[in-house]
Amino acid sequence: MNETKHNWTKEEILDIYNKPLMELLYKAATVHRLHHDPNTVQVSTLVSIKTGGCSEDCGYCPQAARYHTNIEGNDLMSVQQVKAQALRAKSGGSSRVCMGAAWRNVKDGEEFDQVLEMVRTINKLDMEVCCTLGMITKNQAQRLAEAGLYAYNHNLDSSEEYYKEVISTRGYQDRLDTINNVRKTNVTVCSGGIIGMGESTEDRAGMLVSLSTLNPQPESTPINALVAVEGTPLENQQPVSIWDMVRMVATTRIVMPETQVRLSAGRTQMSREGQAMCFFAGANSIFAGDKLLTTPNPDVNEDLKMFELLGLNPQKPFTKKVQPKTVEAAESQYEALGEKPKWTRPKHTIERNELAKKKAVK
Ligand code: SF4
Repeated sequence: MNETKHNWTKEEILDIYNKPLMELLYKAATVHRLHHDPNTVQVSTLVSIKTGGCSEDCGYCPQAARYHTNIEGNDLMSVQQVKAQALRAKSGGSSRVCMGAAWRNVKDGEEFDQVLEMVRTINKLDMEVCCTLGMITKNQAQRLAEAGLYAYNHNLDSSEEYYKEVISTRGYQDRLDTINNVRKTNVTVCSGGIIGMGESTEDRAGMLVSLSTLNPQPESTPINALVAVEGTPLENQQPVSIWDMVRMVATTRIVMPETQVRLSAGRTQMSREGQAMCFFAGANSIFAGDKLLTTPNPDVNEDLKMFELLGLNPQKPFTKKVQPKTVEAAESQYEALGEKPKWTRPKHTIERNELAKKKAVK
């Protein structure tokens, strides 16, 4: 088995991305078979534990408070509500629950303590627990790890250059800093991005440079196809073509051979044949459940039928890494430090974000 390469250049990645499709698919499928069981797909369920009202200006996100998107917001769910959703996900074949909160960053206090309790509760159900809560400090990452967190998601979204065209309220380095804080614990890293935001092929390759040169590389990488939501600055983006999706998945597989590559947002726009080609190209994870935070996702039964048709089996929890132990709150060795992650606020102007904001005010 080849060693994972950590010094991919943009040119090398572009060479792979632009290969004749059959050659690209063959290469990606070969790498996939060397590192993974090609008939196994990891299934995650995303639960939006706190929806809407976010202070950031991510151009793709209907949860940003400044845009007018008609989503139904909710305060932080209770531990019991989340447990009920986790049990439902488990019975539907999910091995992982990913809890998403529309926060810029984690703040120590009652709400974070409640999230820690959710992590303990789900880990005790013998499911992998992932959180995506925005920026976190090292101390917060340690507290999550101690509660039994398996993975932390923090997407790089795009290339460093294109990131500035989508978000003005934080910088690329802030994302990398949070990933770095997670890496100081034994929590695995989930980080990927979105295609179809108007970025160039070079930007897609640039994002893969940023992800693949992390050492270690992320254990999982979601590849999202933008779901253009009315009211967001990216509402008029055309859906990404399946061919671009297949190329992106295949290239990710080749440059990050060990990573679980996840088909994420945008699956409702893909046919079964398209998804099958993505699995052949090296995707080996999906998000299940009828909603991905706020955007639509295929029905669980549809996915089960697709798995049957393709002969795919859901991956058992903790196949790739042992289950973390849960330390109860009363026995925690970490105190809440009440610190905030430091982040830059580039505050440059993104015309379409400003326009969407003005439109929402009207
Ligand atoms: S992507 Fe996350 S940080 Fe950005 S606006 Fe949406 S909820 Fe907030």
